[in-house]
Amino acid sequence: MKIICIGRNYSEHAKEMKSEVPKEPVFFLKPDTALIIRNQPFFLPDFSKDIHHEVELVLKISKAGKHIEERFAHKYYEEIGIGIDFTARDIQAQCKEKGLPWEKAKGFDSSAPLGLFINKKDLPPVGEIPFHLTINGTTVQKGNSKDLIFSFDKVISYISSFITLKKGDLIFTGTPEGVGPVKTNDRLEAFIGKEKLLAFNVK
Ligand code: MG
Repeated sequence: MKIICIGRNYSEHAKEMKSEVPKEPVFFLKPDTALIIRNQPFFLPDFSKDIHHEVELVLKISKAGKHIEERFAHKYYEEIGIGIDFTARDIQAQCKEKGLPWEKAKGFDSSAPLGLFINKKDLPPVGEIPFHLTINGTTVQKGNSKDLIFSFDKVISYISSFITLKKGDLIFTGTPEGVGPVKTNDRLEAFIGKEKLLAFNVK
């Protein structure tokens, strides 16, 4: 199982990061050791002083595919969930400055808390899915898949032109604006529509 994450897939987030809106999808990988499931707590790592939340809709790949055409991509995922792409923003800034890969900032242990999934038949159309993240009860990020720069189908097609997708692979589809730091004792809760699918504490 692999975790593939799309960077800068909402233009307001690209703006807040002072990044250009990309002309083709940007992606990176996290190892399976990044996953946190069943609402287990997230322990702040000691190598960073600036761990940011990025709430993202997550696609679960349902069958293997390579060179998937965009028009067939919808056949490769049945379920959509929500997760956090935790990012060591200070480390990422150092990597960006030196032109180095981001793995240290993005792929560390427990950097990918993952919630429950919903069958897409039970959701609004895939291009209109609202989601949000609260911290200690206050909404900090709010997004909708209608604002994606690259649609789910485009992303699946693009990734599969480089990397074979397998059943169970996860695609984190990018974060909307409002990213920011988390601190000890914060409680994060992530929702698709009104459904709370992920809830955990920061320790
Ligand atoms: Mg992200």
